[in-house]
Amino acid sequence: MRYAETGFNLEIDLTRGNIERVETDPKDTELYLGGLGTNAKILWDRVPPEVEPFAPENLLIFSAGLLCGTPATGCNRTIVSTISPQTRLMAFSMMGGFWAPELKYAGYDKVILRGKSPDLVYLWINNDKVEIRDASHLQGKGATETAELLRQELNQPKAQVAAIGLAGENRVYFASIEQGRSSASRLGIGAVMGDKGVKAIVVRGTKDINVAKPVEYLELCNEVLEYIKFRNENPIPGVMTILQGLGSPQEMATHDEKWHTENFMWGNSRERRRDFWTDEVKRAWMQTLEGMRTRMISCYNCPMKCAATISPPGQPTYMMKCFSKLTYTMAAMSDLDFGLKIAQHATEYGVDGFSAPQVMAFALELYENGILTDKDFPEMPSDNEGRFYWLLDRIVRREGIGDVLANGTYWAAREIGNGAEEYAHNNIKKHEQLPLKLSMLNPVYFLMYATGEKINITQIEGQFPQAPYLKREHREAFVKDWFQVPDEKFKQYFLDWEPRGENSNPYYPNVQMSCDIVDWQEKMHYIDDALGMCAGLSSFPLKPPYHIHNYPKFISAGAGIDMDEEKLSLAAKRYRTLVRAINISRGMRRKDDKPPKNHWKKRFPELEEELLDTYYQFKGWNNEGIPTKESLHELGLDYVSQEFIKRGILTDGEDDPAKEASAETEQA
Ligand code: SF4
Repeated sequence: MRYAETGFNLEIDLTRGNIERVETDPKDTELYLGGLGTNAKILWDRVPPEVEPFAPENLLIFSAGLLCGTPATGCNRTIVSTISPQTRLMAFSMMGGFWAPELKYAGYDKVILRGKSPDLVYLWINNDKVEIRDASHLQGKGATETAELLRQELNQPKAQVAAIGLAGENRVYFASIEQGRSSASRLGIGAVMGDKGVKAIVVRGTKDINVAKPVEYLELCNEVLEYIKFRNENPIPGVMTILQGLGSPQEMATHDEKWHTENFMWGNSRERRRDFWTDEVKRAWMQTLEGMRTRMISCYNCPMKCAATISPPGQPTYMMKCFSKLTYTMAAMSDLDFGLKIAQHATEYGVDGFSAPQVMAFALELYENGILTDKDFPEMPSDNEGRFYWLLDRIVRREGIGDVLANGTYWAAREIGNGAEEYAHNNIKKHEQLPLKLSMLNPVYFLMYATGEKINITQIEGQFPQAPYLKREHREAFVKDWFQVPDEKFKQYFLDWEPRGENSNPYYPNVQMSCDIVDWQEKMHYIDDALGMCAGLSSFPLKPPYHIHNYPKFISAGAGIDMDEEKLSLAAKRYRTLVRAINISRGMRRKDDKPPKNHWKKRFPELEEELLDTYYQFKGWNNEGIPTKESLHELGLDYVSQEFIKRGILTDGEDDPAKEASAETEQA
């Protein structure tokens, strides 16, 4: 019997209209866990580097995490993996909500799409009955609207729907997949869904999931629930409000936006507005949020309520959470009323709330600087907010300049030329980042930005505080109940971290400590992404309920796999390395591992090189960032080194790179 997982994937060939239920190998679960781990294995095995994002051979994998559908609180993530049209590297975007557990209850761990449907279709997965159905009547419909129409059409109010909007249909490089209570937004996975001709995947499942040791498992789940209650009643002192608790940053509950509005950048990630948050603004924004926020909502099996339904006057209701509350507002230099209203359109169109506003602000900056002209913006309104609506419409329809902008700032800048590249200044590996510009280099964040292959900084941060506490006594209080650390040394790292002087940024945490911290944070994210756990209860917040000490117990009792901390760390390292290997085989190298040039004002080139050198070594990568033969062997990934040797990426007797390449140059 298989525990926690169903042991079956749905393989759907859209070109031929073929549907297969395929039993999976339990050994793969032991080696790669599930979710992101097994997705990476499938992509490595079946999508060679020659396959372009929009080729029929590219796969689009929707995976429930290993523990999704079990009673583990907050374990509800769908991990969507493919090759990104924007970065041309592996994309693995996550969505919360209810979709992944529903898929498990229907009897599948993953839905793997290949080929392309000649006409727009949707998939209807109703337990054992799976159909490819005509979706021509849904063409051009909004993502949330589509979900509602399909529930009515199928007479299935409880079905879970993952759908794309117009942006996905038109292959906008930052198109999202929306599913009511969450979305998988980063890296253009919605564009790949649109390219495959799939408007939506509807799932209804009513089966059970087996758990290996139910009594033990429920005890673990109860401990987690108890801890969540404790943490909610005892916010962490000494850190900014959004870092005090658990869950996704509680943006929909909070009214105090001083920190974001005065520290993050406005416009095209350019302008910091230090005195923005006045009493008057606070009052107005509070009124706006109170007026439009209709309900706080959670994902499946979670008490946290991180999201809210937003009902702007005269517009349909939609879901919002996290920092997308402010991204449109700040990009347009506007107010919250505008931000919440345009986000409704953006959600229906299905675009990423981080990239889309930056792309529009970038276009307007090019216009202000004469690189784009009136000819590029025929009939664009003269007011700033009107311009954003106008641009959003053009982008999702790929009309005129919108067709260029729909590829994101990196590709658009190259196409526009005439100095436009300087304005696409906030990318890592061709992908728009948080609009944040800081002063002093932070070595831990440098490594996360440079090497994080989720290619979105917020997704590998967490666990270790972002800044030192001013007083040692406060640091001592912080480490007292810090049982989540994988090793006691992390407590000392934090205790000795001072805001000024010798033990401060950029030379403290020192190079070795920075490597340890980044590795720990990254490991926790990768474990979450294989298990299907919400990062908001594990890898993202300080002192979370799930951590390296209780996860092995969850896997043992839940999936029936004999697990301990060492084995779990090794498994996470294995598929993390496999993700790297996929990207290396697609041309990514050291020169791609870099944060935006202007992310920090004070840069330290020698230190940055040393950080990369040491981190690469620590991870078992050579000086080009390529996993070495020896480290691949230790992880049981000899098949990767064999392929690297065959392709001339590694030489037979040596770990040195045989061929220098770059995702920046090769794929351009
Ligand atoms: S913590 Fe928030 S984002 Fe995470 S599963 Fe719970 S409700 Fe969803």
